[in-house]
Formats: sequence, structure tokens, C-alpha cells
Amino acid sequence: MKTMHAMVLEAPGRPLQYREVPRPEPGPSELLLKVQACGVCRTDLHIVDGELPGPKRSLIPGHEIVGTVVQVGGEVKGFARGDRVGVPWLGWTCGTCRYCRRDRENLCENALFTGYTRDGGYAEYTVADARFCFHLPEAYDPVSAAPLLCAGLIGHRSYRMAGEHVQRLGLYGFGAAAHIIAQVARHQGRDVYAFTRPGDEAGQAFARRLGAVWAGGSDTRPPHPLDAAILFAPVGSLVVRALEAVDKGGTVVCAGIHMSDIPSFPYRLLWEERVVRSVANLTRADGEAFLAVAPEVPVRTAVQPFPLHEANDALNRLRDGDIEGAAVLVME
Ligand SMILES: [Zn+2]
Ligand SMILES: [Zn+2]
Repeated sequence: MKTMHAMVLEAPGRPLQYREVPRPEPGPSELLLKVQACGVCRTDLHIVDGELPGPKRSLIPGHEIVGTVVQVGGEVKGFARGDRVGVPWLGWTCGTCRYCRRDRENLCENALFTGYTRDGGYAEYTVADARFCFHLPEAYDPVSAAPLLCAGLIGHRSYRMAGEHVQRLGLYGFGAAAHIIAQVARHQGRDVYAFTRPGDEAGQAFARRLGAVWAGGSDTRPPHPLDAAILFAPVGSLVVRALEAVDKGGTVVCAGIHMSDIPSFPYRLLWEERVVRSVANLTRADGEAFLAVAPEVPVRTAVQPFPLHEANDALNRLRDGDIEGAAVLVME
């Protein structure tokens, strides 16, 4: 039996364990990938901390996977050995539920998610359903491409949900997703207002370097009303702060999968057609769209590499807000 090294979540709330485990075999519609890099996403932190229900038992996390195809299942079309591919959060959908039939596969009732309800990329090898894998733009090396696969993809879906006629865009939480979306927004001529943890002057300077016209603490008001805001920080009270900051008709998009409770607030903050909405998961069309946009901008990702066995360190630093850009696990 062939084996591999992986970081395994035996129980939520406990650190990942560095283990030697069986190397997976690809099914007929799957690819076996040698993982080159895997991004560390805030969702991984929510899974490891037990804030999301029902993860797979003995889970290998990680859903921003860049790998090379080493074996191709018999029914796979469009991929060959040696191809470099990206594997995102959406790992499988049924194709038959009422959401799938209406082009809303991000809401599929039977979906499987990479690194949550199926094994992900905190490992030397992984298998992925080829129908949900992407060919990656040539311009990116594996490490800089990894954050595109969730921070980029779901960030971009959130960005589109913020509306088409947005000039002043607020980004709350200036981490992996915001640092990518700020570049896209600026490329499209929009003004980015970056909100960080209060007092995080390094984070604010990072946002200004990426072209933000204004950066400040999330407890402060921007100098002008915003047309829309995207919340990447998992802090419910920021929904209220963002509603206070958006103009009439403005949208507040909650981009994360988990957030602390939203405190009650006066109706006048929602009045005048302000909208609060969430964004869940991605569709394959979102992936194709963003991976076409990224090299045009071009999006350049800021990454902090970690070896596979230091995944807990990467997660802890993400929890502490101590990552500039995106943390990425890099395999040998
Ligand atoms: Zn479905
Ligand atoms: Zn993610």
C-alpha cells in the first residue's frame, strides 16, 4: 500500500496531527494529484475550531489546492497526466436538485466540499472530481496561485454581489480575500476603503500599498459614504458598522461561512433600500470567470509559505491576524 504524509483533524478543537496515511486512489471521474501548494483559508480555521457542523471524520483540510495530475480516472475528460490544476471548495454537486437545475449549484442540497466533507489538500496527494477542477493560468507559480482558489474565487463572487455601479467599495478585514479583491476593484477604476482591526497599522499600510484610497480601523467611519461593503472578517458587529457606512441603496455583503452573532440595530440603518446579504460557496462558472480576470489585472498574491507539518502554526497565525496576505502550505 502506498502512503503519504497529511495533516489530519481527528476532532474539532484539537490541533491537526501530522500522520502517515494511505494514499487515495482516484475513482472513475477523479484525478489523483501530487499537491504542490495548498492555501490556508479562514474557513479551515472555523472547521478546526469546531464552528462548522459535521466535518468528515479524520478530515484532511484544505480547499485551495494546486497540484499536478499523476493519475487520471477512466471517465475523466479534459485533463491529462502532468497538467497543473486547481481544486476549489466546491468538490461535488448532484446536478439534479432544484438548485443545481437552476444554475445555483453553489446551493446544491447534496454538495460535497473539499477539505470539509471530503478530504482536501493538507497532504502530499489528494483526489478530486475532475468536473470541479480548474486549469490554472500559466502566469502563476503554484504557491502564488493557491490563494486564488478560495480567497480569489469567493472574494470575486462577493465582489460581484456588491453591485455593478459601485465606486466606493469598503472591505472589512484586509486578509487574503481583500488583498486580491482590492487589486481587481482598483483595476476596474473603483475606490477601495480598507478596514482592519483597530490599531493594525501594518495592515492599513499593506492596504494602501495595494491601492486603497483610505485605510483605517473597523471602529472608525470612512470619510465618505460607501456604495457597498464586503465583510471578510467573521465579526457580526461589523455588519452594523458597515450599514452605518453605506449610502442609500448600498449593499453589505457577508462573504464568510461563519460569523459571530449580529447585534440588534435600529431599522433606520437598513431603511432607504440598504441590503444585507451573504454569499455561499461558488459555482464552477465563478471559477472560470475569476481565473480569466486574475491574469488580466494582473492579481499578484502576497503569500507566507509554511511547510506542511507547520499547518497548525499557519492556522494560529491566521487566528491572531498575523498573516500579511495569504498563508500557503508548500509541499516538498
Ligand atoms: Zn444539487
Ligand atoms: Zn476558503
